[in-house]
Amino acid sequence: MWKIIQPSSIHFGIGAARDYDYPSSSLIITSKGAISRGWIDYLKPKNFSIFDEVEPNPSIEIAENIISQFKNENFSSIIGLGGGSSLDVAKFVAFKMRKKKIMLPTTFGSGSEVTRISVLNVDGKKTSFHNDKILADVAVVDPAFIEDTPMEIIKNSAIDACAQCSEAYDSKLSNHYTKFLCNTAFDILEYAILNDKFEKLALGSLLTGLGFGNSSTTLGHALSYDYSNEGIMHGHALSFTTLVAHKFNNSIFYKRFESIVKKLNFEKISLDLDLNLASELILEDKKHLDNNPVPITKNEIINLLKEINLNH
Ligand SMILES: [Zn+2]
Repeated sequence: MWKIIQPSSIHFGIGAARDYDYPSSSLIITSKGAISRGWIDYLKPKNFSIFDEVEPNPSIEIAENIISQFKNENFSSIIGLGGGSSLDVAKFVAFKMRKKKIMLPTTFGSGSEVTRISVLNVDGKKTSFHNDKILADVAVVDPAFIEDTPMEIIKNSAIDACAQCSEAYDSKLSNHYTKFLCNTAFDILEYAILNDKFEKLALGSLLTGLGFGNSSTTLGHALSYDYSNEGIMHGHALSFTTLVAHKFNNSIFYKRFESIVKKLNFEKISLDLDLNLASELILEDKKHLDNNPVPITKNEIINLLKEINLNH
């Protein structure tokens, strides 16, 4: 049996965020710079409140602070605007406050605008909350936002999307519907990256979110979190962890993923943590490992981590 959930409306295209008719009295949750970058002027929302202090890798405390700061206001809806961090906080706050969720990504990789997942730091550990009620009601995806995005963020977001759709294609939770989305997403992302057509990443990332959000990522993501804990950006870590995972799983995407990593030219990574300890932490990540197409042992994990370190 399988089930598909997605926002009840998805608006896509250049100008989609400018043309959307925002409900009045909403709360916009975003990061610093949303006003100075002209995002709010572009949206033209009617009598809104704004919280613009979401930082990368947000903690659950920030969500709780927003809820207590605004609990007496009668908002019609919550608008999440920004990268995956802003959207994950906005979705979580709206879920707790039972408000309508309108999500507008300005970077294209996490797919958060269409997933039932919110990733927040709890006690210094990245924790993902999964709940159908975290899903946005409306996703507004406007590729125009890519124009002002720094290359480093484009690279990290793009490889995250590539890892998500290719891991999810192989996931035990995949089905015909998610495989179709993930395969199409990978074709679009690959074309966008290899040909420097970055505006196409928005569509690739949206389809990735719909695909992996209804299945799961796997070994590549499980291996990546030890590197995140040492400060390596999510996408950067995946460019090596998903690569060795695809080789281990004998994925049909292995060679194509390798070409994309080469093109994006990421700096090599290595882990400072003792590999025995690292592999034990990874083995605890059942959410990802149980859905991996091939079972993996502790020794095999250590060998994969060694392979990444050796290439350093
Ligand atoms: Zn990811």
